[in-house]
Amino acid sequence: MEVNNVKAYGTEAAEASLDQLNINRRKPTAHDVEIDILYCGVCHSDLHTARNEWHNTVYPCVPGHEIVGKIISVGDHVTKFKVGDMVGVGCIVDSCRECEYCKEGLEQYCEPGMTGTYNSPDKYLQDTPTFGGYSESVVVDENYVLHIPDNLDPAATAPLLCAGITTYSPLHHWNVGPGKKVGVVGIGGLGHMAIKIAKAMGAHVIAFTTSQSKFDEAKRLGADEVVLSKDEEQMAAYRGKLHFILDAVSAEHDINAYLALLRVDGSLALVGAPEHPLPVAAFSLIPGRKSFAGSMIGGIAETQEMLDFCGKHNIAADIEMINIDQINDAYERLLKGDVKYRFVIDMASLKNK
Ligand code: NAP
Ligand code: ZN
Ligand code: ZN
Repeated sequence: MEVNNVKAYGTEAAEASLDQLNINRRKPTAHDVEIDILYCGVCHSDLHTARNEWHNTVYPCVPGHEIVGKIISVGDHVTKFKVGDMVGVGCIVDSCRECEYCKEGLEQYCEPGMTGTYNSPDKYLQDTPTFGGYSESVVVDENYVLHIPDNLDPAATAPLLCAGITTYSPLHHWNVGPGKKVGVVGIGGLGHMAIKIAKAMGAHVIAFTTSQSKFDEAKRLGADEVVLSKDEEQMAAYRGKLHFILDAVSAEHDINAYLALLRVDGSLALVGAPEHPLPVAAFSLIPGRKSFAGSMIGGIAETQEMLDFCGKHNIAADIEMINIDQINDAYERLLKGDVKYRFVIDMASLKNK
């Protein structure tokens, strides 16, 4: 298969920092579009993967699955896009397309396994993992590419491709809307999107944060109420009050403290994916018939639905733009919860290197 060699930023080992490297991208086939990457969001999953915290990383690893860019070439059979279109690529770049889940638009739960934008076996190139968006360009089958609404700022839209869909999908699935009290735990990249989206869906939103500085501004993001989760008295005031909780915390924390806040038949969906297990007590669930669930990103059609919803409601991420050589610093700041609320890499900083 013919390839182009392009600039990227990634890591060779769990303990190494990220640095510039060159990777191969396939030359576009008939169903592919080639995208000049303008912006790429920095998801905490990028950090978990680069450092092998989920114990499945193949090196070299080029993270990045919140990609926005312009199409620079299209294959002969491409019908949905043309050169010059502003497009997005999220966490999925392929799937089997035949299993019951793919047919239902749930490609993220594809039975043989979806092809992740990074760290998946590449279906086209032998013996190499897929490489993500910390890169000049990417080649993707048009069926896994999204249209970006015209009215949204492209850089601030990049985080919707993971943080947006990962919060939209469970909020939608658990019927969040008017009359529902919804908790959002952990106000990082995902959490801040969850606040905005749940509010736009019409819910009453309660943000739970460990950060005093976010306490003061969560209301600006759209929260109706804010709780400092380290304060037991503040937490106790919400016991048995919430219909649904979305937990987007990236590290160990006490799930039982949040299950206690659910009403009878309430659900807590975990989207945060900490390295170590989170113990759940039987008696956090049994009295109150509560559900403890998980949710992974969202399918391609649902991702487009989320982008259109965000376009209609004028919702994008609050971002801090960085250059590619600030990425190692940005990871350290992510670990401290010190980002308001998503780093986005200006990819011109890699192209100009
Ligand atoms: P992030 O921007 O780093 O936000 C995580 C937030 O969690 C922090 O801002 C902080 O919020 C809170 N937090 C961090 N450490 C904590 C601790 N020790 N105790 C309590 N709270 C803590 O991360 P993100 O990009 O939003 O991702 C969040 C998690 O979701 C990651 O584990 C990521 O891998 C996972 N993820 C899952 C999916 C999926 O499909 N399920 C998709 C994308 C990401 P406060 O400052 O408000 O407390
Ligand atoms: Zn992500
Ligand atoms: Zn499938």
